[in-house]
Amino acid sequence: MLFLGYLPRAKMEVNIQNPKLRSVWDRIWARLPQDVQTDLLTWVQEAKDDIQSCPEVEFGCGKYSETIRIIILYNGDLNRLSDAAIGWVIAHELGHAYCHLKCGTAGPGSPKVDFDYGADCVASSWGFQPERDQFEQERKVVTGG
Ligand SMILES: [Zn+2]
Repeated sequence: MLFLGYLPRAKMEVNIQNPKLRSVWDRIWARLPQDVQTDLLTWVQEAKDDIQSCPEVEFGCGKYSETIRIIILYNGDLNRLSDAAIGWVIAHELGHAYCHLKCGTAGPGSPKVDFDYGADCVASSWGFQPERDQFEQERKVVTGG
């Protein structure tokens, strides 16, 4: 039997139904460095949106394990943000996927890795600092904090 699960997948599926989110996704994706695109396309299985909105205002999340890498964008909360702020959420989640790709998940006994900080640093290094500034402004309004 072949262990196909250990082979990189050929292509990430983008199943983002919300047209506004999809258009921002496409613009953010196009600005990623080529080698980053290649890594993400190889290892992330799916990017999708979800009509669900988290009670604690969560804009996006990733599910990562040895075999599962999925990016999920939450329509309910993202719809309240501008395109630039949504762009930061997407860049941040792509940063998470990239960090997990490069650093793995922090297991027992390994040094604690702050993946949010890592995702922010990586996404900023890709040139999305203006989107980050916009998101920080709007987040305070949306979350009241
Ligand atoms: Zn995060």
